[in-house]
Amino acid sequence: MSAGDKCLQEGRYVALSGGVGGAKLSLGLANLLGDRLTIIVNTGDDFEHLGLYVSPDIDTTIYTLSDLVNPDTGWGRRDESWNFMAAIAQLGSPGWFRLGDSDLAMHVERTRRLRAGESLTAVTAHYAECFGIAAKVLPMSDDPVRTIVDTDLGRLAFQEYFVREQCRPRISAINFDGAVSARPCQIALAALAEPNLSGVIICPSNPYLSVDPILAVPGIKEALKACDAPVIAISPIIAGKAVKGPTAKIMEQLGRSADAVTVARHYAGLLSAFVLDKCDAGRAVDLMLPTLVTNTLMRSLDDKISLARACLDFCAELRKGAQR
Ligand code: GDP
Repeated sequence: MSAGDKCLQEGRYVALSGGVGGAKLSLGLANLLGDRLTIIVNTGDDFEHLGLYVSPDIDTTIYTLSDLVNPDTGWGRRDESWNFMAAIAQLGSPGWFRLGDSDLAMHVERTRRLRAGESLTAVTAHYAECFGIAAKVLPMSDDPVRTIVDTDLGRLAFQEYFVREQCRPRISAINFDGAVSARPCQIALAALAEPNLSGVIICPSNPYLSVDPILAVPGIKEALKACDAPVIAISPIIAGKAVKGPTAKIMEQLGRSADAVTVARHYAGLLSAFVLDKCDAGRAVDLMLPTLVTNTLMRSLDDKISLARACLDFCAELRKGAQR
């Protein structure tokens, strides 16, 4: 059995993920690893809407891993109906954040359970079980951390910027309110401290809006630095462009060059190695890190599993290299 095959059968892995981009790779990893995968998910995008607690990145992860996700958008549920939105619009309620009829159940039940005293970790674990997901899906923290952006329209809560304003305002700074006093999810910390951990994979999520909030929770960055396993990140930028969303635009607005090398440098001090797309093969020499150059564009399920397999093999290689 090769080292790669052995780690596919035995190793435990942790992924850090935002929403759509992160969930795509998480699905590939979950296919290969099942319950040996722990996914720490960004909750900086969480907010209250119409009195309901909405956790967009957790829901995207749950829907993607249970094959319920809307394949056209990458978020929300497939075959959704919108009677609630039509009915509430008639009452004059704000309609900019759309909640589908089936999706609504997630938010109503989460709100009820949180009000009854359950933690977000417990509610998320319950949802994963209900949807038959073997991987552990964890919020980065049970405490509120809220991503707030400073823009030319003033300070905006993340969903106001992302959904209501469609990412049009120009960002000058990104803040994670509450992060300083937030406690990290204890199960996430334990997963990172496991002695037989085989790798940590920072998914190709938006580094500034999806991964940074996770890293801002005290203890998580330190746990990444302390863990024995290789820590790798996959670039969400391919040939200077984001596959989806405002990542490249935000990088430019923050005065950085929108390319894979900037992403790797953003994670300086945390990474053992970096994964970049074949289109950016020429940039590998600019990194002072071991690199894997592979196809990182995930269109089909096969693409997601192939990239996940390449990441696991890469971690196995890095572990072997570290033992020499
Ligand atoms: P969000 O919270 O829904 O914005 O999701 P994420 O932060 O997890 O993902 C957004 C990032 O995923 C964007 O920067 C995209 O460029 C990246 N992304 C989406 N699909 C892919 C893909 O197939 N390959 C790679 N490498 N990046 C992707």
